[in-house]
Amino acid sequence: MFNKDMYELGNNRSVIRELFEYGKLRARELGEDKVYDFSLGNPSVPAPREVNDTIKQLIDTVDSTALHGYTSAQGDLSVRKAIAQNLNNRFASSYSENDIYMTCGAAAGLAISIKALCEADDRFMILAPHFPEYTVFVKSAGGTPVTVPFDGDFQIDFDALSNAITEKTKAIIVNSPNNPSGVIYTRETLIKLSNVLNEAATKFGHPIFIIADEPYRELVYDGAEVPFIPAIYKNTIVCYSFSKSLSLPGERIGYLAINPVCDNARELYCAVMGAGRALGYVCAPSMLQYTVAKCLDARPNVCAYDENRNLLYNALSEIGFKCVHPSGAFYLFVKAPNGNSKEFSERAKKHGLLIVPADSFAAEGWVRIAYCVSKDMILRSLPAFEQLYKEYV
Ligand code: PLP
Repeated sequence: MFNKDMYELGNNRSVIRELFEYGKLRARELGEDKVYDFSLGNPSVPAPREVNDTIKQLIDTVDSTALHGYTSAQGDLSVRKAIAQNLNNRFASSYSENDIYMTCGAAAGLAISIKALCEADDRFMILAPHFPEYTVFVKSAGGTPVTVPFDGDFQIDFDALSNAITEKTKAIIVNSPNNPSGVIYTRETLIKLSNVLNEAATKFGHPIFIIADEPYRELVYDGAEVPFIPAIYKNTIVCYSFSKSLSLPGERIGYLAINPVCDNARELYCAVMGAGRALGYVCAPSMLQYTVAKCLDARPNVCAYDENRNLLYNALSEIGFKCVHPSGAFYLFVKAPNGNSKEFSERAKKHGLLIVPADSFAAEGWVRIAYCVSKDMILRSLPAFEQLYKEYV
């Protein structure tokens, strides 16, 4: 009666959402202060002031029918021009308004780019550990997701990557800074990746694209470098979002940047427009398009995340947990002491700690702790982490 795959997707909520809902229930039962919810990547610092000021100004000064009306399917022309110019200023690239496609956040950008690229039986490589929704987007476009494991430094396992590439490989999804590990792929890793993909493209006689999923590009610490992938590998689609960089996840706004020098750039842009249409996006939210165009250099208070990062990393390491030192995003990746993600997450729940088992991120044995929360909650949670650790020693 219904589409079985869609029914299954709707019926099996993501593990993150499941934990979040559980947290709300437990908070009602035990009291808010007894539940330490580290489940969701929802920014905890407010949007920069420029964002709200711009929205107010737009409401006061722009004709309402224009402000709230449809834009072109690919986004308003002046908005796309502003974004292209901003990228070119920052990365010495050569984007024009005709290479930018406005989206409802990174999720829509990913779904659209995957659908635009995917032909029957195509394979999409996904670097572990990874955002679980990638597999949903690939499968619903009719493709096959192929997970590539990470190496000891959470960079790419290149032997596994080379073995995974076949003539059916259409693209690889690269997410840096990474959710859930907080690791940034180094320039060296990306150059090596580019060489492997170029070799495979020559061997199989067709391009292999990188989909660079970059919602965390601006959330970096200690001045870490996030290399701009299109400058290293030309066949790159950048999938950007303002959800985290401007703390606007509920507003659903982002863009795709199709590298103008990539193979068949104009046809690819056309396929992106077709995919957006087929998926029913019509256009990205108009008022938010106009807003972000005026706030391209605004940043949230990354210092607050940095403080949480240091506090949590130092405290959990001192307790005895093995943690990956995050260079970006707002997640701490922690090894489950007995190597079992689910068991560890379930046990943590008993202490009021909601942490996400990372088996659904293709990283069995690890858990993800989202530190986009109040510093006060982190401080209050530390005795619970201590108690939890004692159960394993
Ligand atoms: N990609 C990654 C790696 C994410 O972590 C998220 C959200 O948390 C998304 C994509 C989707 O972001 P958006 O809110 O822009 O759709």
